[in-house]
Amino acid sequence: MARSALITGISGQDGAYLAQFLLAKGYTVHGINARRGSDTLWRLRELGILERVDLIDGDLTDQGSLVRALERSEPHELYNLGAQSFVFTSWTQPVLTASVSGIGALNCLEAIRRVNPRIRFYQASTSEMFGLAQAERQNEKTPFYPRSPYGVAKLFAHWSTVNYRESHAIHASSGILFNHESPLRGLEFVTRKVTDAVARIKLGKQQRLALGNLDVSRDWGFAGDYVEAMWLMVQQDEPDDYVIATGTTTRVRDMCRLAFGHVGLDYERYVAIDPKFYRPAEVDVLLGDSAKARSKLGWAPRMGLEELVASMVDADMRRVSHEY
Ligand code: NDP
Ligand code: GDP
Repeated sequence: MARSALITGISGQDGAYLAQFLLAKGYTVHGINARRGSDTLWRLRELGILERVDLIDGDLTDQGSLVRALERSEPHELYNLGAQSFVFTSWTQPVLTASVSGIGALNCLEAIRRVNPRIRFYQASTSEMFGLAQAERQNEKTPFYPRSPYGVAKLFAHWSTVNYRESHAIHASSGILFNHESPLRGLEFVTRKVTDAVARIKLGKQQRLALGNLDVSRDWGFAGDYVEAMWLMVQQDEPDDYVIATGTTTRVRDMCRLAFGHVGLDYERYVAIDPKFYRPAEVDVLLGDSAKARSKLGWAPRMGLEELVASMVDADMRRVSHEY
């Protein structure tokens, strides 16, 4: 019998890539779709899989809707990727962020308990939980120190996942993923904001790009590589927590150099600093150590940052040149 999965956040970057990955493995894929006024299904459309997934109305803040979605889809696996995922917004909407990104995970776990405790669970945890990093390279043993309402909410979701594993024997794993990007990344995140602007500047549709702190560093990988790690965690005999990262960190400034350089431009001529993009508390450097995932899951990232940024700029050049 074909395996089936339910994905919260299926319309997001990771949800779309995970759906594509699972379909290729022969899964039946269901997704929770939080109804919005605007079109949120463009990623599924762009990957050509919108017609191949079953979308179910629901919201992470509404436990009843999750129960009904599990009853209707009867999945073997539940991937909780839904979140208010933009760190900056979490300072202006902290309670919403806690409800969706924190309590939302607990709602999933409770729904599993009520419907079928044998459903395997994946929680989308984040390197933002390390925040003010307590070790040069962060791994599963590094103490957490979140620096934003988003990080705090995700830490609640992470510990809820661990707690339900230990209290209720649910096969619940938490993937502590470092930043991962792609041509399907949301425009509010710095990488995509930069690659979109590079395309607009190159094509004469924009003059400058305003950014915040250029001296922070992130361990950036490719989202397509990272969804495979999610699936591998869920296939293990025992649930566990894993750090997923490339092990290389790059400053925002150097990411800009790569992106502008890909189309022959010098970023210093176009990037301006606007203090409004600075954050009330910053995460200066993130650098992951994914040795455990590499040895236990046999996982390793495939795409390096240069190739990733080039693919994002190329995709944005295509999009912008087709705009009216
Ligand atoms: P996105 O922001 O692209 O996607 C978030 C998804 O959550 C969207 O499908 C969105 O739906 C959905 N969502 C938002 N609010 C609700 C709600 N109330 N109920 C149900 N669904 C909701 O995030 P990514 O794909 O980049 O990330 C996936 C997960 O991984 C997130 O939990 C994120 O926090 C986490 N993560 C991401 C990292 C990254 O670098 N990308 C790093 C580490 C963790 P809609 O489209 O309708 O708004
Ligand atoms: P995050 O790591 O989840 O917060 O991912 P982002 O892509 O939103 O931000 C990565 C880093 O880039 C953060 O440290 C930001 O402070 C920094 N940054 C600098 N300028 C900007 C900007 O204009 N937008 C965003 N989103 N981030 C910026």
